[in-house]
Amino acid sequence: KFRVDAAWKTRSRSQSTTATSPKTIFSGIQPTGVPHLGNYLGALREWVNLQDNATTDTTLIYSLVDLHAITIRQDPKQLRQWKKESLAMLLAIGLDPNRSIIFHQSDVPAHAELMWILSCQASTGYLGRMTQWKDKTANEKGSSEKLKLGLFSYPVLQAADVLVHRTTHVPVGHDQAQHLEFAREVANGFNHTFETDVLFAPETIISPAKRVMSLTDPVAKMSKSHANPKSRILLTDSEEVIRSKVKAAVTDSIDGITYDPERRPGVSNLFDILYHADPRRNDHDQAELVKDLQGSSMRIFKDRVADTVNAAIKDIRARYEDLVHDEGYLQDVAEQGARKANESAAATLREVKNAVGLA
Ligand code: ATP
Repeated sequence: KFRVDAAWKTRSRSQSTTATSPKTIFSGIQPTGVPHLGNYLGALREWVNLQDNATTDTTLIYSLVDLHAITIRQDPKQLRQWKKESLAMLLAIGLDPNRSIIFHQSDVPAHAELMWILSCQASTGYLGRMTQWKDKTANEKGSSEKLKLGLFSYPVLQAADVLVHRTTHVPVGHDQAQHLEFAREVANGFNHTFETDVLFAPETIISPAKRVMSLTDPVAKMSKSHANPKSRILLTDSEEVIRSKVKAAVTDSIDGITYDPERRPGVSNLFDILYHADPRRNDHDQAELVKDLQGSSMRIFKDRVADTVNAAIKDIRARYEDLVHDEGYLQDVAEQGARKANESAAATLREVKNAVGLA
């Protein structure tokens, strides 16, 4: 068994950490609504950067994870619409179907199949300690009748998503780091148990942007599923809507503008948004921006946040409006993505079945 682990480590190192080796990048987003500024700054913008800076031996795979979306009850008509809108949005932010494989998760059955095989290895104790599960359990106040098995095993499906494509790198927001660690352990555990090296433990690429927080409740993360639509800025919001949401963002009554996430979460969240949404963010550091703005009034500060956010997303919004109505094109992209993703997943699944004795 030691021999297998050592071999895996060598392979993993040569596959995933040297600049010249082939890379496979995988990430996903739930089609549970129009993506918001947090999705964009925390994940989607990084997907496009990775695509635009990829060498020819890098494979990029981006999935609309609809099987994850149904871990929470969805209206079927609404889900179908969100799937279409989310695909249009991935194209609008700059993903190119000729360079990135873009597909709906449920079009590639190998994801669910591998998930079942991995479920037979995953420990329920480990899954029960996942922060996101504990949060959801706390919300349901211990009523296990309402908690669904799919939600509990969500991290196993997420591990299958990544492992079925032999992913080397996974770009995600901070909230997903623990699930990725789980995927690494599942891969190593499977290889160890079946004395194989079929699965690769991937590396995580955490976005430089921190968690973007809700505008109305700045101690919670900005999220698609939050009940209050004013809590998030959607990538489709018009300039007027952005301005009114930023204007209504919860701040405090302390004088002046300072960066202090503990005492002033609302103001600090707007600072983070301003800093990360600014395309010149690499040219000046955040402390300088804080110094620049400390004498400003809240009104001027908020105007600057709204202007910067609008400038960052206005081209995306315009492209989205064209794409979302082009049903034929969206269908072609989805079909092409499904074909390529099925090819990518088939080889791993075959080897996994072999290792387990199913084939
Ligand atoms: P939901 O509210 O439906 O759970 P979500 O808004 O949390 O959805 P996901 O589809 O779960 O979004 O996540 C897509 C990607 O966006 C993930 O990589 C996740 O880490 C990132 N992400 C989600 N919310 C934020 C946020 N507020 N700040 C930074 N990154 C985020």
